Amino acid sequence: MFTAFLVKYAEIGVKGKNRYLFEEALVRQIKYALKRCEGDFEVTRTPGRIYVEACSEFDFDETVDNLKTVFGISGICPVVHVEDEGFEKLCESVVNYMDTVYPDKNITFKVQARRARKNYPIDSMELNRKIGEAVLDAFPQIRVDVHEPEVLLHVEIREKIYIYSRIIPGPGGMPVGSNGKAMLLLSGGIDSPVAGYMIAKRGVKIDAVYFHAPPYTSDRAKQKVVDLAGIVSGYSGPIYLHVINFTDIQMYIYEKCPHDELTIIMRRYMMRIAERIARDTDCMGLITGESIGQVASQTVQSLAVTNEVCALPVFRPLIGFDKMEIVDISERIGTYETSILPYEDCCTIFVAKHPVTKPNLNVIKRHETNLEEKIDELVQKALDEDEVIVVSKR
Ligand code: ATP
Ligand code: MG
Repeated sequence: MFTAFLVKYAEIGVKGKNRYLFEEALVRQIKYALKRCEGDFEVTRTPGRIYVEACSEFDFDETVDNLKTVFGISGICPVVHVEDEGFEKLCESVVNYMDTVYPDKNITFKVQARRARKNYPIDSMELNRKIGEAVLDAFPQIRVDVHEPEVLLHVEIREKIYIYSRIIPGPGGMPVGSNGKAMLLLSGGIDSPVAGYMIAKRGVKIDAVYFHAPPYTSDRAKQKVVDLAGIVSGYSGPIYLHVINFTDIQMYIYEKCPHDELTIIMRRYMMRIAERIARDTDCMGLITGESIGQVASQTVQSLAVTNEVCALPVFRPLIGFDKMEIVDISERIGTYETSILPYEDCCTIFVAKHPVTKPNLNVIKRHETNLEEKIDELVQKALDEDEVIVVSKR
């Protein structure tokens, strides 16, 4: 019965030139999501609204599920299209619509007609009244409530006539591409994919970097990160995943620095390298899955010492979240099952039994001077050997 969707979006903060960018980005992301669905669709934009029209057979549930991944959409209204074949025929269509969509007639409703095509012979007020009457005649159990109707029945007169009343909630947020780009430090854990999701939800396009430490971390651990990037790309659009071989750097730090400072110094090198890639790829910030107090490297002192190496802003959307709250989001967005697969992580391999929890910046900086001889060369080599994988959900 439904042949189209009206896509609603919140317009807050979307004015002037921004609005144009916002709508363009939204259309682009909708098209990206629809590529994963059976059937052909046309996406059209008129001021303030976006329509998705099916041009072939399509799977309703699959289409709705995919539209629900598009940030910026606040609601998805399934629409019935009918040709303009006179007012009587229109009333029949509306009655038919109500019968199918609300099999249980114990509802209150109100008609909200809109004459977008001004040459239609009946004006909106009269349409409201007459269509309302037709519905009441057909279903005596249904009642009108003009103040707080359970069902707001929209009838829009355009070239064709659009009938809709249901609003399926969208994910909210802003369309990816409307707010610049940032570089996600993506590990195989639970947190970082969620962090990427949350920043993408604010309209930020994301690329990612993964620090790989072969042979200490396996190909399966890397594949897991590729898979996680794939799931996140279902929301964010294609992700350029930079795989950086971190082994030599890690070994060198292990050799030259106190072991209880290994993690924090490693984290500083990850941030430095991520920032270099970010600058080369027009990313305007870094994203991590850090949350205060979760592990030794995420105490406030450790975060401060890690942060000190970056000039770009570091977005930490999970900073105030409990683990359970992060797990809830990861389950909802579909990354959890992959995140908990038990492959080793490069950070866990050399971890000290008692890592520092209150690192002192001056001490850390002094110990980093032990690395002077070779570290620049090793960092450069890692960057030169950057393997870029384009990840996109099919
Ligand atoms: P996650 O669940 O995201 O792995 P975590 O609880 O394991 O987080 P840490 O290992 O301290 O926390 O890492 C903190 C953040 O540093 C991660 O959220 C991620 O953004 C980044 N990070 C850690 N390890 C890597 C890695 N191997 N490659 C890329 N980024 C990493
Ligand atoms: Mg981790």
